[in-house]
Amino acid sequence: MKQFVFALILAAASVAHAGGPYVFDYRENGRPARVEVFITDVTEEPLAQTPDLEALEATPVCYKLAAAWKRPVDWAVKGTEFPVAKNTVIGLMTQAMNIWESAAGTRRIFGENDQGILGFRAPESYAQFAHMSNPFLAVTMRHSRQKPNGTYEPTRWTILYSLDHPWATDGRADAYDFLSVAAHETGHVAGLGHPDPSACPDETMYPGIFKGELKKRTLHTGDIAGINALY
Ligand SMILES: [Zn+2]
Repeated sequence: MKQFVFALILAAASVAHAGGPYVFDYRENGRPARVEVFITDVTEEPLAQTPDLEALEATPVCYKLAAAWKRPVDWAVKGTEFPVAKNTVIGLMTQAMNIWESAAGTRRIFGENDQGILGFRAPESYAQFAHMSNPFLAVTMRHSRQKPNGTYEPTRWTILYSLDHPWATDGRADAYDFLSVAAHETGHVAGLGHPDPSACPDETMYPGIFKGELKKRTLHTGDIAGINALY
């Protein structure tokens, strides 16, 4: 059932394309559940979208919020194929989470990395490199369950990084910088969406990234305002 939902979500996201979040309601163990899907695209050129000067002048709110986590959940890195060493992926994912937690002045947004015992009993929340039948660079999913009062509370997350694009950690110009993309995707996990791309071209949560781009390794005004509005 879980695999089915997963396939359905990716198929629907391929049709809708780019941005999100796309929200899908379903039932899990008989209870109303929901998944939010955030798509990160590759960007061919730096600042491919011409900044909207009027919007920039109107001091836009350069963040978008989803629900915050009540308590952190532990996470793992899964999969068998890695364009970057698995331990490096774990280290940089942790670093990306630390960037957000430091900006929010809290250590309690994300849980700890826990790879389980020999890969078994690893946490339900995980990141993985995977081949995807679409051009996306990365996809973040946040699963939520409905509370008795009708609101939704996030319970677990998944990040898929595409194996069909080149990755690097040394900042070279012909590949996507893993820490930059991890900072963006963990921002989604925390509960941030994409700000208006024409008015907010410099944010880490801008919906696209180009090869060799490193500025998403750090947070920008809207990102910091957003994470502080949530936590
Ligand atoms: Zn995104």
